[in-house]
Amino acid sequence: MSGIIQFVRHFMQEKPDPTPLSHLFKFNGGIHPPQHKVESTLKPIGKLQLPEKLTLPLRHHIGNFPNIKVQVGDYVLKGQMLVEAEDMISPAIHAPTSGIISAIDEQLIPHPSGLPELCITLTPDGKETWIKLQSTDWRNADKNQLLSNLRNSGIVDLGGATFPTHIKVPTNGSANVHTLIINAAESEPYITCDDMLMRERADEIIQGIYIMEYILGAKKSIIGIEDNKAEAIKAITNACSAADQSKIEVKVLPTLYPSGDARRLIYLLLGKEIPHDKRSTDEGIQVFNVATALATYRFFAFGEPSICRIVTMTGNVESPQNFEVLFGTPLESLVQAAGGAKLSTQHFIMGGSMMGFNIPNTQVPIIKATQCIIASSPDLFAEPPAAMPCIRCARCADVCPVNLQPQELYWFAKSNNFENARKYDLFDCIECGCCTYVCPSNIPLVQYYRYAKSEIIAEDQSANAANLARERNDFRLARIERDKIEHAQQHAARARQAKESKTVTINDDGTQSTTSSTFKEPTTIDNKAAFNAAIERSK
Ligand code: SF4
Ligand code: SF4
Repeated sequence: MSGIIQFVRHFMQEKPDPTPLSHLFKFNGGIHPPQHKVESTLKPIGKLQLPEKLTLPLRHHIGNFPNIKVQVGDYVLKGQMLVEAEDMISPAIHAPTSGIISAIDEQLIPHPSGLPELCITLTPDGKETWIKLQSTDWRNADKNQLLSNLRNSGIVDLGGATFPTHIKVPTNGSANVHTLIINAAESEPYITCDDMLMRERADEIIQGIYIMEYILGAKKSIIGIEDNKAEAIKAITNACSAADQSKIEVKVLPTLYPSGDARRLIYLLLGKEIPHDKRSTDEGIQVFNVATALATYRFFAFGEPSICRIVTMTGNVESPQNFEVLFGTPLESLVQAAGGAKLSTQHFIMGGSMMGFNIPNTQVPIIKATQCIIASSPDLFAEPPAAMPCIRCARCADVCPVNLQPQELYWFAKSNNFENARKYDLFDCIECGCCTYVCPSNIPLVQYYRYAKSEIIAEDQSANAANLARERNDFRLARIERDKIEHAQQHAARARQAKESKTVTINDDGTQSTTSSTFKEPTTIDNKAAFNAAIERSK
């Protein structure tokens, strides 16, 4: 009953005044899919019980395998570093609780590939014993030291792409960031974790923004929030008023998907188009998710590394809600905390309804990139009708937020004309799904783009592999040629020694004369030329 009352109360809420459109810049297209956000915002953020095991994938990105600092059988404390960031791309990983390392092996993880990945399994001891935590006096600290601390924090951008936060901070004056944008748009349907975070922890978020501003050297910050989050807007605005709000501006955006895409958000707020071959920091702008601001605050204020996040558990479950979840928690625990999946549930989706992907089973762990899990049923996601031929209506182009020609990309992908797909900026496609959503012929356009991208990447990789093989072969031929030359020279030297033996001749007058035979070294000029040419080719 209280749920129904809250539901009604939600719809009776006044909508916040959006920032005047004259202060915003509208990007092309976008869509208004059903939001399905209310269901999971009726209860406060919940906590889960400690699961029986936590499974932590070691690799979150394309980076190298990080450096594992523990072995099977080790006892670890909550917050202890298990894996050190090995290169720029990989984040550090910390123990989400105290317990024993029970395995380091391959496990299924939530990833579109469905492939297993090397993971650390931790069996909790139930004591939740922390490492010794230490806060940082960031206002008086050296920025390089802060950056190095950030690298060890395990914090990634929690908005989806999960790039480690430290790589998003330009170092040694490589770029001059003047504006920090906090992405609180959360425009994808079903996802409400940022909304709930802002409602409940606005003060900490604002403190985190101050720390980020300091590290980046930014002069001002803008928080972009969609107008479907009335309570969050109120909480954040109040928190700004309570703090020194002079540098932080809250901008209320009209609800439109995909405003939460970083480049779309920059355009909406500042009217700046970031060229596809540049980063936003080249234009002095950096974007962080609102949850990243909170994680940054917790790390510098209390020394807590990144070991948990807020996850929306929604869709076809009994009681949709947001939960604070330790990384590595099996999805099954989250489903149970939300009252369990209803009988008609077919499978689970990680992410929102526009960009999410199916996950293999409910034993996969919650990872840093898990914003939302949707229990899917035929009522929520009906099987799409069979695709029909393209009728060239151009609706897809009308809604494309990146100004692409989706119908052309579709034809190129379908006919394996990857060269033209590339020319038509296939790789600028953010796979938002707006084109698929409006296509009257029900063509699964994004699937074609993913196919074309993966084929092009595979082609590039095999071309690189072929180049590498050719170089290796050239080098092998060069080595054989060099060996031949060396053998020829050694042979010639031996022959010269033999022929240089003295010859005694009896002259006509009976005297003897001694002559040394002169050896004519065989020319190796042709061989040397071939050798040098091979070396050149192999460079
Ligand atoms: S919306 Fe569909 S039918 Fe229309 S042009 Fe695009 S791909 Fe073709
Ligand atoms: S999926 Fe790609 S082509 Fe389609 S609307 Fe989004 S950006 Fe444009």
